[in-house]
Amino acid sequence: MALTRRDAEALDAADPLAGFRDRFALPDGVIYLDGNSLGVLPKATTARLAQVVEQEWGRDLIRSWNSADWIGLPARVGALIARIVGADADEVIAADSTSVNLFKLAAAAVRLRPGRRIILSEPGNFPTDLYVMQGLAELLGGRVELRLAERDRLADALTDEVALLLLTQVHYKTGALHDLPGLTARAHAVGALTLWDLSHSAGALPLQLSRDGADFAVGCGYKYLNGGPGAPAFLYAARRHQDSVRQPLSGWMGHAAPFAFSDAYQPAAGMGRQLCGTPGILGLAALEEGAAIMAEADMRAVRAKSRALGDLFLQRVEALCPGQFGLACPRDSAARGSQVSLTHRDGYAIVQALIADGVIGDFRAPDVLRFGFTPLYLRHGDVWDAAEALGRVMREERYRQPAFQVRAAVT
Ligand SMILES: *Cc1c(COP(=O)(O)O)cnc(C)c1O
Repeated sequence: MALTRRDAEALDAADPLAGFRDRFALPDGVIYLDGNSLGVLPKATTARLAQVVEQEWGRDLIRSWNSADWIGLPARVGALIARIVGADADEVIAADSTSVNLFKLAAAAVRLRPGRRIILSEPGNFPTDLYVMQGLAELLGGRVELRLAERDRLADALTDEVALLLLTQVHYKTGALHDLPGLTARAHAVGALTLWDLSHSAGALPLQLSRDGADFAVGCGYKYLNGGPGAPAFLYAARRHQDSVRQPLSGWMGHAAPFAFSDAYQPAAGMGRQLCGTPGILGLAALEEGAAIMAEADMRAVRAKSRALGDLFLQRVEALCPGQFGLACPRDSAARGSQVSLTHRDGYAIVQALIADGVIGDFRAPDVLRFGFTPLYLRHGDVWDAAEALGRVMREERYRQPAFQVRAAVT
């Protein structure tokens, strides 16, 4: 049944997550539908960073490694993220970037499956996932090969040659959701390991990594976890693997006793060995604030609202712009992550015109308009208004203005 704006307001009034919105510094005059790419600033982060800079760094200097427990930050932030992804506190650690963590864990995983050559993924996976695997395959010579199979062929492509299945659970462009428990079980049935990229999942939908038997996972800190631009990423390794994996970036922070300064590398127990060099404390402190808010939220409520917001947006866009957009995401919200992806030949210019009108989404080549829904700080009323704005841009053909055709470096 078609909703009205009044219905949207009623949903906001009854929203169990409504209290979270005030914890974010939302700029006036902006409806932000890009929290899947860069999450917004939590109010607490401003004060926290000032404290870390002025007191911990400025006044206490090197003593803060102990007195402010800087050294414990990667594990502490990992424990918060563990709650969000359904893992035990000591199965997750925050470090490095998603790209670097993909390299570390994929290399570690293939070492656990000697005699198997294939890393299996899908065409159109996020570029860095594929590029890092190509780099790893090159480095290891003939030892491993990256093989790609379309998503409906993945189950068949899982054979006993496969060492590792590497997939992004929620596709960055289409929002299509993989069956993480099902594919993990299927991989295990042929003796393969799994590495899940959760960049568009963590903080967007409920996850149960431990229960679902996932072997390894990585994900982003700056998207739904609101850790700030270029925030550290996270890694997960199931406890059963932690003390047998050896990741190749064996830096001193992953040593069993970094301050013994011995010549020979000895990996730390547990997730500690996933660290490489000195952690970036400013980034981790900001991520701790963002992840702490997300860890408070009931992820089932987040998912329910995320689906409702996506459905509302789609319903309104189809009512206001009939036949004008293609649909790049699954129509059924149960089959997609927390985004709606439309297609249009003039997609880039349309997104630019919409941004000029205060509604921020983004564009992914060649023709995808991407709108992310972040239930902690978006209201149904905002989504209603965003669809209205898109309707105006289309009706008035505002996107045809020359200024909106010029591509910036970052889309
Ligand atoms: C955003 C994203 C990344 C980002 O990797 P970085 O190393 O942080 O640049 C990786 N994988 C997926 C699926 C993403 O969506």
